[in-house]
Amino acid sequence: MEKIRMQTPIVEMDGDEMTRVLWAWIKEKLICPFVELNSEYYDLGLLHRNATQDQVTVDAANAARKYGVAVKCATITPNRKRMEEYPELTQMWKSPNATIRSILGGTVFRTPILIDAIRPVVSCWKKPISIARHAYGDIYKAVELKTDEPGECFLTFRGESGAEQTVSVQKTSGPAVFLGQHNTDESIRAFADACFAYAISLKQDLWFSSKDTISKVYDGRFRTIFEEEFEHYRADFERLGIRYFYTLIDDAVARVIRSEGGFIWACKNYDGDVMSDLVSTAFGSLAMMTSVLVTPDGKFEFEAAHGTVTNHYYRWRNGEQTGTNPVATIFAWSGALKKRGELDGNAPLVRFGESLEQAVFDTLADGIMTPDLVRMTVPGFSATPVCTEVFLDEIAKRLAKSI
Ligand code: NAP
Ligand code: MG
Repeated sequence: MEKIRMQTPIVEMDGDEMTRVLWAWIKEKLICPFVELNSEYYDLGLLHRNATQDQVTVDAANAARKYGVAVKCATITPNRKRMEEYPELTQMWKSPNATIRSILGGTVFRTPILIDAIRPVVSCWKKPISIARHAYGDIYKAVELKTDEPGECFLTFRGESGAEQTVSVQKTSGPAVFLGQHNTDESIRAFADACFAYAISLKQDLWFSSKDTISKVYDGRFRTIFEEEFEHYRADFERLGIRYFYTLIDDAVARVIRSEGGFIWACKNYDGDVMSDLVSTAFGSLAMMTSVLVTPDGKFEFEAAHGTVTNHYYRWRNGEQTGTNPVATIFAWSGALKKRGELDGNAPLVRFGESLEQAVFDTLADGIMTPDLVRMTVPGFSATPVCTEVFLDEIAKRLAKSI
């Protein structure tokens, strides 16, 4: 069989621990036997980030900007405990995802992978719900203040022109707390653009929610900017038969729970933080959640939503077999290859990505799955727990047959 060729490289960002092990197996068993893999490889493993003073993360992000499609393995974000575990670290390096996002900009969309054997907690959900979280500002970049005496707090803006605006936040009669937060038109607009573009690429409705009845100026600005930006996409939405829908956050929550899914829900920063955990938990498992960073100028970085699965890695290092679930990482690869194929007009590569996903679904439908999924299957479904390598071999068998 002749392998599928790729005109343009994808940017491959390797990572840490158990997901690094999965990464190599996925390439060896599921990708390289079928595709003449054309990738520009960056090792974002913690020790290599340390050895390059984190330059490798910056280089990888720049390569993603150059080529437009990247696939990333989960990586360790060091904390104090990791500094003890890896004494050679010269710094508590920043989260690679944060570094990459600060270079590329853009919005992260998280989407669950659904299978028949596992039912969402919300019984009417039939299709995935993707959450788009605005990743700038609001309480994540706020200033806070506490006082122990009565007084009055003001909010002042001083323009470069010298003009000033001041409002009284509140006059208080005793100890109190205050919070000042902000967002920028530029960031909100980029968020709106990424959401509209992603809705078009998925051919799904876009919902956006905020609380503009209460926060008339702040949340009102979000709503207005979304409406303004929508005008650039309206024709495409009409052509595809999809719609943009704004509603209040509390109304959105009620509608989401009663919906059958199949749409993108754009959330402000805090709402997205909370709602993405709620939606992913209700759909089943972090190990079945994909994540893609989409920039306003149409660059894509695919990854699994989970971390490096440290405790499985320690067991694997001691020679134990582990049942780490590779599905989200496989879908990061298939997503990247499909997008590369789409951008390059490479139909065989797109078809390969689809066949790979189908082979995963077929394997799961046959009841062959990692233990984390077996525990969640519906009553009456007969499932066999297997370790990661056996699971990957079973997928490879089905993939080879379908190709
Ligand atoms: P985690 O790696 O997602 O694992 C948390 C737990 O979830 C695991 O112990 C495991 O539960 C379960 N789990 C997650 N993925 C699984 C999979 N594919 N198959 C089976 N079970 C899975 O999160 P963490 O332990 O909080 O973080 C570990 C490291 O990952 C940290 O150093 C963190 O910095 C990093 N991290 C990276 C990213 C990223 O690169 N995007 C994201 C999050 C965290 P059981 O133990 O019950 O089996
Ligand atoms: Mg959170």
